[in-house]
Amino acid sequence: MEKIMILTTGGTIAMAEDEQTGSVQPLEADSLRSSLPLFDTYAQVEMEHVVNLPSPHITPATMYQISLRLAELLQLPEISGAVITHGTDTLEETAYYLDMVISSRKPVVVTGAMRSQNELGSDGPLNLVNAVRTAASPAARSRGTLVVFNDEIHAARWVTKTHTSNVATFRSPANGPVGTLTKKGVVFQHPVHRSPSLPHLPPVEDVYLIKAAAGTDDRLIQCALHAGCKGLVLEAMGQGNLPPGMLPGVKAALKRKIPVVLVSRCYNGFVEDTYGYEGGGKQLKEWGVIFANGLNGQKARIQLMAALHISRDPAVLQQYFHEFLPGA
Ligand code: ASP
Repeated sequence: MEKIMILTTGGTIAMAEDEQTGSVQPLEADSLRSSLPLFDTYAQVEMEHVVNLPSPHITPATMYQISLRLAELLQLPEISGAVITHGTDTLEETAYYLDMVISSRKPVVVTGAMRSQNELGSDGPLNLVNAVRTAASPAARSRGTLVVFNDEIHAARWVTKTHTSNVATFRSPANGPVGTLTKKGVVFQHPVHRSPSLPHLPPVEDVYLIKAAAGTDDRLIQCALHAGCKGLVLEAMGQGNLPPGMLPGVKAALKRKIPVVLVSRCYNGFVEDTYGYEGGGKQLKEWGVIFANGLNGQKARIQLMAALHISRDPAVLQQYFHEFLPGA
């Protein structure tokens, strides 16, 4: 039987609802230990607690902490794969970080729950069993970090939380799931195009994510510069266009050699240098703004935090933000 390590980090999967107040609260760190017998028919499982945090409390430094322990465990010959349990709010960021910095071919699966342990229809036990099944499957090797939820397997690079409360919250809007958990098997229907591999070092702090909206100006960008920002991610409109009011801030950042990464606030599609008007993608590209495709703002931020260890040069960074298209 394959040996799978479960690393727990908190989240709703490790919480319960107070029947009096209805509020959902963290349980003690080893509350998931009672699920161990569920895995008996699938794998030999050991559980270890890394942190016990609601995922809005997870920071890039916590992601690094998780990744260090994970890398250590994956080096052990007796371990075939690993599962990480995590709160769903920032799950996609941790999963993407692990995808970029963990070089092992062994399966790494991130899962969680939308309903806590004592809520009706609690999805934690099934997600956890499915995550262990996936991590124990030879078919999951060399596919990077995967997210397993609601009988689906998603690539860390593409998956995002799409619903505040529905158990079918994790989706990959542009590409769909890469696999399915059937009653009997772990089936991969699509290849996974891997994320860039980046240095396994503590993510660089002070990288800010700022969203464009109708009529927004550059005051938030200027604040970020004032606060000592080391990189900026801008969630632009449509194909990658900004309101003219934001441009002085973008210019100021670039003048200070602070990398500026552009993603779209649309959850589907590509940012490209299409439009030639003021603030349009053509102008931004000419200025040296880095276009990130296939990533939402929160993942582009984590990627920039990791990629800043390689370079601050936009031309170098652009290569790491290239979208790896099927067939490309
Ligand atoms: N707010 C919770 C968290 O991210 C949501 C969850 O785990 O589903 O920790």
